[in-house]
Amino acid sequence: MKQSEWDVIIVGAGPTGGRTATHLASLGHSVLMLEEHSEIGRPFQCAGLVTPKALHEVGLYDSILEEIDGARIHGPNGSLVPVGTDGKLRTYVVCRKKFDQGVVQQAMEAGASLWLNTQPRSAETTQDGVSLKIESNGEERELKCKLLIGCDGAHSWTRRYFKMGRPKEMMIGFQAEVLGYQGTDRWLEMYSGSEIAPGFFAWVIPSGFGSHRIGIWSTPERLNGRSVEQCYDDLLQHPLWKERFQNIKEIARFCGPIPSGMVKKTVGNRIMLLGDAAGMAKPTTGGGIGPGFKQIKGILEPLSKAIFEDKLSEKNLNKITSKHFQSMKKDQDKARLLRNLLVSDVEDNELDKHFENFSRPDVLELINEIGDIEKPVPLGLALVKKVPAFRKLALKAGTRLLFR
Ligand SMILES: Cc1cc2nc3c(=O)[nH]c(=O)nc-3n(C[C@H](O)[C@H](O)[C@H](O)COP(=O)(O)OP(=O)(O)OC[C@H]3O[C@@H](n4cnc5c(N)ncnc54)[C@H](O)[C@@H]3O)c2cc1C
Repeated sequence: MKQSEWDVIIVGAGPTGGRTATHLASLGHSVLMLEEHSEIGRPFQCAGLVTPKALHEVGLYDSILEEIDGARIHGPNGSLVPVGTDGKLRTYVVCRKKFDQGVVQQAMEAGASLWLNTQPRSAETTQDGVSLKIESNGEERELKCKLLIGCDGAHSWTRRYFKMGRPKEMMIGFQAEVLGYQGTDRWLEMYSGSEIAPGFFAWVIPSGFGSHRIGIWSTPERLNGRSVEQCYDDLLQHPLWKERFQNIKEIARFCGPIPSGMVKKTVGNRIMLLGDAAGMAKPTTGGGIGPGFKQIKGILEPLSKAIFEDKLSEKNLNKITSKHFQSMKKDQDKARLLRNLLVSDVEDNELDKHFENFSRPDVLELINEIGDIEKPVPLGLALVKKVPAFRKLALKAGTRLLFR
């Protein structure tokens, strides 16, 4: 007989679910992960960039495909701003399947259980616990737990079932895995301009064994009826860059959502949302693995205590999470504001002027000194403080919001 009562049930065994299960199982709680797919890490929708901090946290070095020292960023008119230094590692590119499987395996080694081919169908929360109806390998079952955590990604069932709001932005990402792109070793490329990635950027990332990931992301409003696939085709045909793409051979393509902007309600009575389900991806890069890890790590001790004491009302969960989650939300809001100011809400000709400023030696020095994929806010703030052209922009946009 499979166990039917658990301290914690986690819906979704992606990186956030796996990491959350590892922490909670290590602290002595009985934890069950429910995963709708028949294997972990598939389907894969990710460029695979993992920050050193997140990678060191889990130590999954065998999932690394490439090490990246910097980004060569291209302005709409073809200007180039290289950010980074040869030999100074900035980020890793991983095999997401291996990474996700490694994270979930760590959870199981810590004592958590995993049921594949399993989805929740309905749930009821009471003072005493959560009753969850699930379908597992075609069979219906009823489970009970003290706490239900939704780590079920961008279209989270948990978030929708408990009406917990929507992420502020839902970007659309598209990516193709290709062979035959001639890039620079250890550097990724970013291409900007309204024709190819309105308000955002396209990327080309080396992904090991001579392959590259070519991707694009934007928001539906900015795409204005175009699809991200059309943007991708426009990048490949762009007069400034088409030669680089002429010998590529596609081996896979996929499309996926990137939810960014923490939902209003991250907790309810005995319910919590983490990771993409809570809208945690970064507005500047779309990275969601690091934020998911950070979100659970920052509340572990009080959460574990509350699970032991079975004090998991909405009020208590709010007490446990609000300081940490609100500080993450504030950072996310600032990063979005700076992104809109400098890149997303800017016409191409203005963006070209920004690139002129970015490529000034003193500004480049600043970018290289303070620039951190994980913490874009300090760099953005330094740019608007120290570069006169950006300061004017910030004043126009209302600086109070930025420096609050
Ligand atoms: C094109 C693209 C490129 C990206 N590039 C990067 C990048 O380079 N770096 C980065 O950090 N992030 C990137 N992201 C974002 C990243 O993929 C997510 O932020 C990250 O996977 C979030 O982890 P998660 O565990 O919260 O959610 P997910 O990885 O989405 O995991 C959710 C899990 O829940 C399961 N699930 C969903 N619904 C149910 C259900 N009802 N029942 C049971 N199981 C369910 C899913 O099958 C999945 O296994 C990218 C996203 C896209 C679309």
